[in-house]
Amino acid sequence: MRKKTGIQEEPTTKPLEYFEERRDDIVRDIREMVEIESPSDSKQAVGRLGKYLAGKFSRLGGQVQFHKAVEVGDHLQVNFGGKNDRKPVLLLGHMDTVYPVGRLWGPGTLDMKSGIGLILHSIAALQARNGELPRPVHVLLVSDEEVGSDSSRHITEALARKSAAVLVLEPSYGLHGAVKTARKGVGEYLLTVTGVAAHSGLDFEKGQSAILELARQIEKIAEFTDMKRGLTLNFGLVKGGTRVNVVPAEATATIDVRIARLKDAASIDRKLHALKPFNRKCELEITGGMNRPPMERTAGVAMLYQAAAAIAKRFGWKLSEAAVGGGSDGNFTAGLGIPTLDGLGGVGEGAHATHESILIAELPRRAALLAALIATV
Ligand SMILES: [Zn+2]
Repeated sequence: MRKKTGIQEEPTTKPLEYFEERRDDIVRDIREMVEIESPSDSKQAVGRLGKYLAGKFSRLGGQVQFHKAVEVGDHLQVNFGGKNDRKPVLLLGHMDTVYPVGRLWGPGTLDMKSGIGLILHSIAALQARNGELPRPVHVLLVSDEEVGSDSSRHITEALARKSAAVLVLEPSYGLHGAVKTARKGVGEYLLTVTGVAAHSGLDFEKGQSAILELARQIEKIAEFTDMKRGLTLNFGLVKGGTRVNVVPAEATATIDVRIARLKDAASIDRKLHALKPFNRKCELEITGGMNRPPMERTAGVAMLYQAAAAIAKRFGWKLSEAAVGGGSDGNFTAGLGIPTLDGLGGVGEGAHATHESILIAELPRRAALLAALIATV
């Protein structure tokens, strides 16, 4: 017992060997999940994976429940009781992937079907070892993480509020498998410029170019980027104009905003809404906002990381931590002040890319780490 941090030593022997022996079973489960393709935009396809997983989790004795969703697949929640009435720990992840149906290789292996495999096997191991789980565990696998989590966010937040800690099974960082203790917040804005169309030869002076105005605004907005603060703005899509010989009446730009600190959300929003046209005859409209708050490395996050690093050390490896630019549903739970540790999933490379893959040899110790964390945090 280490009373100071509230972390308890896990009373087990040889958990790593247990998972080494079951490595092929973990790989088999992940392979089955990868073969049940589940792009965010196919409710039916994600639903198939949900059904498959509901069967797996109920065979482990979990209480399965689907949260109905309208446009995306139903979100899957599984509750496990435990030895005592400690607050549950929430194991959080998603079933959807960014890949359309009909691709081979390993789409979703890393992000994050291997993470789901680790959840299944760590629960099974804790049950096998102790007869029952050492504490209540809630599993939530949502269906829309890759498209912003609009449908599932309220479920994630409600479950997190009831939890002692949230363990997020998103991919780890880098080939050394670092966990993620800070993630940037993400926002998306659309800037629309309206000008006045005119023939570029006959009436050039009557036209007010929306593209020219947008170009000036882009220069101005680019200055809001502050690398030292971890604040970046990216123009990912720019559109405008109708024909080569027409002064363009409309132009738009999408702006991807990343923030490392929560307080930058309001100030960047204010700056974007305060933009004034350089050409008074053009109009600006800005829509959108922040989607996920940043996951900051709070004391609760740091405590979870230290617990995880101590467990890894007992298993003979050094678990490092990383701050990353991408957001996940862990941003929501950390934003509520619930201790959250992200990146506990598979180790590999190429998330969202054609070479997406995981390192099979890493699976046993990741499963052992997760099982120990469930028992002790
Ligand atoms: Zn993911």
